Amino acid sequence: MVKGLINRILPFSSVDGPGNRTAIFLQGCNFNCLYCHNPETINKCNNCGRCVEHCPYNALSYVDNRVVWNRENCRYCDKCLEICGNNSLPRAVNMTVDEVMKEIMKVKPFISGITVSGGECTLQSIFVTALFKRVKDIGLTTFLDTNGSISLYEEKELIKYMDMAMVDLKSYDNKEHNFLTGMDNEIVIENIKHLSKINKLYEVRTVIVPELLNNYYNVDMISKLIARLDPKIRYKLIKYRPMGVRTELFYSYQPNDETMNELHNLAHKNGCTNVILV
Ligand code: SF4
Ligand code: SF4
Repeated sequence: MVKGLINRILPFSSVDGPGNRTAIFLQGCNFNCLYCHNPETINKCNNCGRCVEHCPYNALSYVDNRVVWNRENCRYCDKCLEICGNNSLPRAVNMTVDEVMKEIMKVKPFISGITVSGGECTLQSIFVTALFKRVKDIGLTTFLDTNGSISLYEEKELIKYMDMAMVDLKSYDNKEHNFLTGMDNEIVIENIKHLSKINKLYEVRTVIVPELLNNYYNVDMISKLIARLDPKIRYKLIKYRPMGVRTELFYSYQPNDETMNELHNLAHKNGCTNVILV
């Protein structure tokens, strides 16, 4: 039976797609962004056991060479995240589609759909496809929040059961994208084009980071791309905030409102009719 490695499930979210949604975050990512805000989602736990003795609430134990998390004891103090040197967390759990559906059914009357996010959710596409299929059966919408690194053109089953996707395009310049994430951006751009063509692209997002990225170039090129594809596609410009970032790797000041407004105006001038700042 297919299982997903789940970082956490947020029963209600109003920032992960339209309306009120259950957000499901999967563990594991193939990007290693310098400004990653959730570095504990990047790797799978290697069961080194280092975090066990640091848990102040006896919620971790070491059994048969594996770290076991006790949900009842956990107070979500995040001490284990601070200790882990592996960009992981011991609270990620393997869940079947049935188990995730059980969580969704608890809140079904209050949500319009689910969003599967990460980490990078398409790395577990078999699980996500099976989950989306079940969620469609109960009349909810299915959204994907992805870094766009896996060719969605080839994920035909996943696309069939997915309503729409939100894709990060972190840099238009491939060299800069590679420097930032450790991966090229060609597939990301191809995915954006493909999703737009099949009317399943809900949003493109770019984080604005003053000291790291060529933000004006990126917004200029990405907004021109969106305007060519469909000017109504939402383009979200995200103000970099240094919270939760691995400061040993990177630190930047936050862009000010003036910069954000200039970038908003640039995207608008280039033809995007649905630009938002957050
Ligand atoms: S968050 Fe981690 S350290 Fe804190 S109680 Fe839970 S398992 Fe223990
Ligand atoms: S969460 Fe991190 S510190 Fe804890 S066992 Fe896994 S890899 Fe080791």
